[in-house]
Amino acid sequence: MSWAMAGGGKEGSEGTSNTTRDTVQAVVLYGEELLFDAVDGLSDQQIAALRDSIMQHQGANELCNYLNLYLSLKNKTDEELTLYIDSLFESDEIPYALINQINIFIMNRPEEIPMVVPKDLFVTDSLESIPCRHFYPEWVNSNPNPYDVNLGKEDTSLSLLLVGNDLLGEFSLPVDNVITSKFGWRDGRNHNGIDVDLEVWDPVKTIFPGVVRVARTYGGFGRVVVVRHYNGLETTYAHLHRFKVKEGDAVTSGQVIGLGGSSGHSTGSHLHFEVRFKGKPINPLSFISFKEKALVNDTLMLKRTTNGYLAYPKGLMIHIVRKGDTLYEIAKMYGTTTYKLAELNGIRRNEYLIIGQRIRVI
Ligand SMILES: [Zn+2]
Repeated sequence: MSWAMAGGGKEGSEGTSNTTRDTVQAVVLYGEELLFDAVDGLSDQQIAALRDSIMQHQGANELCNYLNLYLSLKNKTDEELTLYIDSLFESDEIPYALINQINIFIMNRPEEIPMVVPKDLFVTDSLESIPCRHFYPEWVNSNPNPYDVNLGKEDTSLSLLLVGNDLLGEFSLPVDNVITSKFGWRDGRNHNGIDVDLEVWDPVKTIFPGVVRVARTYGGFGRVVVVRHYNGLETTYAHLHRFKVKEGDAVTSGQVIGLGGSSGHSTGSHLHFEVRFKGKPINPLSFISFKEKALVNDTLMLKRTTNGYLAYPKGLMIHIVRKGDTLYEIAKMYGTTTYKLAELNGIRRNEYLIIGQRIRVI
């Protein structure tokens, strides 16, 4: 690519017109979401030189920021990327454009270990009394998390289809309320889930269909229900006041599995909600939007790291049209173009958008 080659030879000041043209091409590439792809073959020095030349001619702009971001991501470990993505999901306005860029970066990152081609559609067993035996060697009722730490150590990358067929069903929010504590490092200890506010006796629902593995009192969780889902995930609902299911019960999405409370180690009534894959906690907000009351994406990408999984929604992303949205503004928000959006959604670029309409963004 001529642009990349020009980037390589950009030490010092060459002809100004040359540099300007390169910059314009780089901006176009960014608009088409290919920035990280395009700079992939360049050395750190070459990328820094490209950034500096853009700074010199245009001043600091978004493209410089992305080049800086790329330089910083490039040398991060998977663990550090996990923490970084988790921190982005904490923002009130989640920066999906930035997360998309990081997703593209992760997807294209060269792997030291041979990568298993992610399965697009992970179809599970037919309806069985125990879901997903191929993921889990055991079915234990007495412990919410009985799995060996090495379960899944052979995994590299995989994609889980979360919903959308007869078996997997649909998604429901566990409790439609505000999140009071997020996932990750909190007050000197690791919070393996999120806390959702509720009143005692409020119904708590399972987010996907599945089978109840645990419904009993367990340590600090108090009354806790764990459901194993047909999509491979397990979800935990803790501090319940009452059980509405028993172990071995098959449940449908949105079924009330208990009533909220503050049993166990809990200050004030709330739901402590965890999502795990093969025993490893993943950030529920990496695929659930409480604001939209919906999944961010139907497919969850999981990439194995030393201690767990890096979880992020698949590159396909849906924007739900709000009042005043235009295709141009949506494109800008997600770092893409109106051409691309029109093509992806089979619509015209000047199409009139309807509030609530789902626009595929990537
Ligand atoms: Zn909690």
